[in-house]
Amino acid sequence: MKKIENTKIQLIGELPEDYSKPSKEELDNFREYISHFNWVDAKTFENFSPHQYILNFPCWKLKADGKCPGEKPDNCIPCKQIREEFEKWALFIRKYGERCKMLKTTYTVLCVDDKHYWTMGDPMNTTWVLNLAFINEPRRVPKLEWLDRITMPPLDT
Ligand SMILES: [Zn+2]
Repeated sequence: MKKIENTKIQLIGELPEDYSKPSKEELDNFREYISHFNWVDAKTFENFSPHQYILNFPCWKLKADGKCPGEKPDNCIPCKQIREEFEKWALFIRKYGERCKMLKTTYTVLCVDDKHYWTMGDPMNTTWVLNLAFINEPRRVPKLEWLDRITMPPLDT
């Protein structure tokens, strides 16, 4: 069996004290949002960087693929609402996330409870994937380098 490298989290930088954090309410709404999905295992990465994802497409992309549920151009209200909600939370992650470096790429990830969430850095119009992974995923091969230090308010118990 292949030896797994040290996956201990490394903390490097530190953010200014007035770094903005989401409110408890916003964070709970985020938890609520992400709890509704059937997250899909990213099979290609399962032995390297295990994570899960969901897909969400804007109306124009759904239309191009013949998958928009709206039959007329003005009949896309549900499809646009679903997308609006997705973009809101994708931007939330980019706003409040912290920098995490894996190999040569620095991601903006939002750590909530035991997982972190990220989109890639694409413009919102072509941001279709939302990922999650366990912060302390023991099967992850590359070491994560945390460039900031952010502690989110914990879930009420
Ligand atoms: Zn649509």
